[in-house]
Amino acid sequence: MDGLAALPPLREVIAAHGLDARKRLGQHFLLDLNLTRRIARAAAPLDQGLVVEVGPGPGGLTRALLLEGAGRVVAVEIDSRAIAALKELQTAADGRLDLVEGDALKIDVATLGPAPRRIVANLPYNVSTALLVGWLHQADQIADMVLMFQKEVGDRLAAAPRSKDYGRLSVLAQHVCTVQRLFDVAPSAFVPPPKVVSSVVRLRPRPEGRLADLRPLERVTAAAFGQRRKMLRSSLGSVFSRPVDVLEGLGLRPTARAEELSVADFVRLAEALDK
Ligand code: SAM
Repeated sequence: MDGLAALPPLREVIAAHGLDARKRLGQHFLLDLNLTRRIARAAAPLDQGLVVEVGPGPGGLTRALLLEGAGRVVAVEIDSRAIAALKELQTAADGRLDLVEGDALKIDVATLGPAPRRIVANLPYNVSTALLVGWLHQADQIADMVLMFQKEVGDRLAAAPRSKDYGRLSVLAQHVCTVQRLFDVAPSAFVPPPKVVSSVVRLRPRPEGRLADLRPLERVTAAAFGQRRKMLRSSLGSVFSRPVDVLEGLGLRPTARAEELSVADFVRLAEALDK
């Protein structure tokens, strides 16, 4: 760990590599090691298996993961400037850090190394939900995720039925994972500061009881919440030829609206669609 302690401050790394933040890549960097170590500790145990970090940027969270004892970190970064800035950290990490230059949206986590795999990331906000939905589809390959989102996304992930934040993302995430909001982070913690508060959320794939294929659940939730003010007998007309029969067959009121259904109700609708 001595090599890690001797690394230059992150501000110097950013300056030396011209790593000025690019909005297009959702770049908001965390420079406070106390905060990044707190995020890393939330993902413990780090010494077993593989830690996948998406978007290491200048490497604040990456340093924290290594300092907190990660056995092996694979960091996937789209920005070649950041890959160059991480080389010194890679040397100091003594074989525990691999860098992959590429688009995380196009990478299967299983190809990055053996299980158990944990994903830990301060996500680029512009693609955070697309990345998460992709990982929900690959949940068999993932032991745990500790992820930073915009607070508004954290609210949606954890929302209960009959609340304004409850929607497609709540149903998909809560069906696949237990969702736990850990803590919020103020805009001032980032360089440059984003406009909104952020939230660190743990999503742990459930060991059993998950649909083998999430696509039917995506279809019914997209139809139901796409027209969330309408009654289900109408909004589900795009996915079932006889929505009233399906709803009544499952003991659900055809006049209910999407937000009144539980996650389990949506799963039963997805199973009905699959038949
Ligand atoms: N982890 C760093 C930190 O906490 O300071 C940086 C976090 S910043 C919010 C998001 C990072 O994700 C940036 O470094 C950005 O270049 C990278 N990124 C953006 N889109 C990406 C993608 N599709 N695949 C991989 N990395 C991406």
